[in-house]
Amino acid sequence: MSTDHSTPNVPAANFLRNIIDADLGNGKYAQRSDSQGQPLPTVITRFPPEPNGYLHIGHAKSICLNFGLARDYAGRCNMRFDDTNPAKEEQEYVDTILDSVRWLGFNWEDAGQSHLHYASDYFEQLYTMAEYLITAGHAYVDSQSAEEMAANRGNFGEPGKNSRFRDRSPAESLDLFRRMKAGEFKDGEHILRVKIDMASPNMNLRDPAIYRIRHAHHHRTGDAWCIYPMYDYTHPISDALENISHSICTLEFQDHRPFYDWLLEHLAAGGFFKQQLPKQYEFARLNVTYVITSKRKLKQLVDEQIVDGWDDPRMPTIVGMRRRGFTPEAIQRFCERTGVTKSDGWIDMSVFEGCQREDLDPKAPRAIAVLRPLKLIIDNFPENEVIECTSPVHPHHAERGNRSFPISKELWIEAEDFMEVPSKGYFRLFPGNKVRLRYGFVVECTGCDKDAEGNVVAVHCTYFADSKSGTEGSANYKVKGNIHWVSIAHALKAEVRLFDRLFTDPNPDAGGKDFKLALNPNAKEVVTAYLEQGMSQALPDDKFQFERHGYFVADRIDSKPGQPCFNRIVTLKDGWGK
Ligand code: ATP
Ligand code: MG
Repeated sequence: MSTDHSTPNVPAANFLRNIIDADLGNGKYAQRSDSQGQPLPTVITRFPPEPNGYLHIGHAKSICLNFGLARDYAGRCNMRFDDTNPAKEEQEYVDTILDSVRWLGFNWEDAGQSHLHYASDYFEQLYTMAEYLITAGHAYVDSQSAEEMAANRGNFGEPGKNSRFRDRSPAESLDLFRRMKAGEFKDGEHILRVKIDMASPNMNLRDPAIYRIRHAHHHRTGDAWCIYPMYDYTHPISDALENISHSICTLEFQDHRPFYDWLLEHLAAGGFFKQQLPKQYEFARLNVTYVITSKRKLKQLVDEQIVDGWDDPRMPTIVGMRRRGFTPEAIQRFCERTGVTKSDGWIDMSVFEGCQREDLDPKAPRAIAVLRPLKLIIDNFPENEVIECTSPVHPHHAERGNRSFPISKELWIEAEDFMEVPSKGYFRLFPGNKVRLRYGFVVECTGCDKDAEGNVVAVHCTYFADSKSGTEGSANYKVKGNIHWVSIAHALKAEVRLFDRLFTDPNPDAGGKDFKLALNPNAKEVVTAYLEQGMSQALPDDKFQFERHGYFVADRIDSKPGQPCFNRIVTLKDGWGK
């Protein structure tokens, strides 16, 4: 993967951009106007989630694509809830979805107007169009049982059979449909279908159902309706009503496109749509290794308390990624970099992490954290003496100034920075070796203390008073090792959570595999760390690079004033699977 830092925001060509460029060239959508007669932008896209769960990284792809195209072509992207399934939808989901889209950096305002829509706002119009389809002989009420209907649907390679209700007169169907609406029947007793072709090789054209009876409370329309339109019927009509030009969806909808076109053409013939009709285009959904993007399976992780909720930092939900410290900029960069294609594939998680590092490296202030502390005692350092050390806030941005932290006789260092018997190539602390205490002094290791079990409990060293970093004397010391530390008396003790991938299998649910067998038991580790004292000022969502350890964020929920706790966003280098 190339890491071109210079042009992260120049969008690469892709087949959708080519289509839009061609449509702009031939003026296909140029002449449209809204209901007030105002000209419409050429490019109008939409992001149409069903409010039945939390958005995840796959949705982010769709959001970046739809809102990104609208932005780049001076168009508009509508935010639309596809809320036609009353049983599974809730206001809670509507709220979190809107919040997630905003957080990703997009909005649905255009020229001072909000373009937030709900398919349920179109229930009246959808109903009127259904009556029209019946009257025109394009739709009929089917009263077969669910079993009969399934049996008569046929199979791939085997044509279906016409329902015995298919030749019902429009008047009879209309009467039944009105009585369905009036609540005279139970769920499943009748269904409204369009009349296309029961022998079509495309199953989606075998008289698809467009309305069903559902005696259920809807989160927006309450009990006003007991019949609800099907997704395949609602979606194209919502697109046309909103003057969408390019209706972008994932590949599994390819076989639905003929019905999309059929429906809009028949309704246009009935006078419902007078302008250029929207077109559906399909792209390959985003699959990321080690990640699950099925709402149903993510819900299972939450319900079975395998994770600590939808916003668990290990979750690929937008709320989880936000809590983890991932940034909207990095997510946008990732969606752009992975491109838009027509064939399914898996993107490696390391690509996402790379985007995250690229975004944070130039921004994140540096700080010191000791995650697995071991005591270092500088035997010749005067008792009670405290000397300030300084280092830049950011190594490449002198203008951001310096930070300072004290050194004293007793320090915390990383346990792994000492070895009593060094392995080959080890150049950190071991008896007789010299290292630099980063931004401080050069010290020489003299030995260690052990407990009754032989565990090292403290390391001893002596320091060279003329070796302080940034002073002239420091040049006289050439050492290979450079380790970080914090003064015990001045350190901030804090909880730090270290995350790893949630699954050990790169394709945890591919081919119907049981993803729960691939759970990584070490996906979350909580340590008590010692941080440079200035970290007590960190505010929720503040991000840092803890030198040598990676990028960290002050947890937005659990941090308290003066006492933040941190999540590791990503390590400094890609160390996974190596
Ligand atoms: P479910 O997991 O319940 O099947 P869904 O992915 O179909 O959910 P929707 O709320 O219908 O969820 O999705 C909203 C939009 O996001 C759709 O246009 C869908 O195509 C797109 N989308 C969902 N998952 C992905 C993905 N992995 N990659 C790209 N786009 C996606
Ligand atoms: Mg869906």
